Amino acid sequence: MVARVIPVKPFDLVLFGATGDLALRKVLPALCLRFADGQMPRAARVIGAARSDLSAQAFRDMVAQALEEAIPRGTIPPARRRGFIERLDYVMLDARGDTGWSALKAALRDDVIRAFYFSVAPGLFGDLADRLDRWQLVTPETRVVAEKPFGHDRHSARALNAMLSAHFDETQIFRIDHYLGKETVQNLMAVRFANILFEPLWNARFVDHVQITVAETVGIGGRGDYYEKAGAMRDMVQNHLMQLLCLIAMEPPHRFDADAMRDEKLKVIRALDPVAPAQVVRGQYGAGADSAAMAAETGHRDTSTESYVALKVGIANWRWKGTPFYLRTGKRLAARVSEIAVTFRDPPHSIFGENARWRENVLVIRLQPDEGMDLRVMIKEPGPGGMRLKDVALDMSFAEALGDDLHIPDAYERLIMDVIRGTQTLFMRGDEVEAAWAWTDPIIAAWQQAGSRPAVYAPGSDGPDAAAALLRRDGRRWRALR
Ligand code: NAP
Repeated sequence: MVARVIPVKPFDLVLFGATGDLALRKVLPALCLRFADGQMPRAARVIGAARSDLSAQAFRDMVAQALEEAIPRGTIPPARRRGFIERLDYVMLDARGDTGWSALKAALRDDVIRAFYFSVAPGLFGDLADRLDRWQLVTPETRVVAEKPFGHDRHSARALNAMLSAHFDETQIFRIDHYLGKETVQNLMAVRFANILFEPLWNARFVDHVQITVAETVGIGGRGDYYEKAGAMRDMVQNHLMQLLCLIAMEPPHRFDADAMRDEKLKVIRALDPVAPAQVVRGQYGAGADSAAMAAETGHRDTSTESYVALKVGIANWRWKGTPFYLRTGKRLAARVSEIAVTFRDPPHSIFGENARWRENVLVIRLQPDEGMDLRVMIKEPGPGGMRLKDVALDMSFAEALGDDLHIPDAYERLIMDVIRGTQTLFMRGDEVEAAWAWTDPIIAAWQQAGSRPAVYAPGSDGPDAAAALLRRDGRRWRALR
């Protein structure tokens, strides 16, 4: 099945931090793929901006090399790749000085959409916003994209919001959480709100519990300095897991539009119960046979930063009171899995007798690998051996269901096109981000006050033993990671 492509309007996208890792590995390849598909029009341009002294040609060569690495050969015709590269320009510019700003002003066209993508450290957001305003580069058709992390606590997020809103209207600010751009996450909205099947069961009466897992096999890699200050709670829970939790738990918005969605997500965050320390497990990966411990990778031998968090969350509203949400995320775990599993309660009575083998219905929404969904249901085991029950998966892998030639776009492809269209549904509003920090801040503060240290877990394992105990206490188990 080939997706229908509607081209967006012509635009100038200024990519601040264009020589950086995120720009070269994610943003520029995503734009190239949208160009190859005909969604980024020929009249659109991408202007890279950074302090490095590069000619436009040297920048194009750098991007061509990055595209080689990011987009497998044969994915797009070479002529399309060249066509994209021809649309690139470069301005040498300092966010903190006046170098390059007049050149940028001269390079921009007046009659097209402008997108300013801040793919730089958040410490530069304020400088960029100030200068964009001072150089009168902000038009009514301007959007600004802010990368994560959006602050490191509520106070800093509020300061960032204030800096941006001094120069831009909220409708112009696109705070990225790339999890929201994943196809399956949007499919979650379709499954919940475009079918009659699930919504009547989507509450504490019928849902026993929900597990949200984002497990990685990789360690912190070269991000030691950043990670040492962040940890899994700030890096993953406050944003990605919180967004997934909101989409699962929110009330149906009256329309699939930005503010209706974001109002409902905000209500979920505000309804979260405060988390007691006993409901949170922190872990840190130790050394393996051929991998270093996190402490060695950060360069802080004494680090008390966590690479793993598991926690139990309650939502104090009529829909969810009594249904726990278990969240876990970690690095160097047994498998790379991102999924949401909604486990339903048992039927009230078994007509098959007390000894019938029984498994709960589970709806699993897989974000990676192999995006798709499966619903575990009980059926009769085939054969003449009497009425024996068996649980099977009604599997809907998107690649299988929708055809092999289906290209599931990377989250950045969709999100950047939404920026150009001015559609904010899959982006976070300022108050949402602040509310999420307001919930995570006390948990982090309690760790700091107690001077607690994360439990060390073996690389390649399922995480610390205490995480299993967290669910065991409630008579439940984590889903297997493998
Ligand atoms: P990076 O590799 O360090 O790149 C930073 C970019 O900013 C470079 O292009 C650098 O170029 C430019 N820059 C630095 N100071 C500047 C200044 N004063 N004026 C203009 N440009 C300046 O960082 P990154 O990994 O790409 O990350 C960028 C942002 O995205 C960060 O906020 C990060 O947290 C976030 N993020 C990154 C990832 C990822 O996978 N990398 C994922 C999610 C979010 P010059 O040195 O040439 O100026």
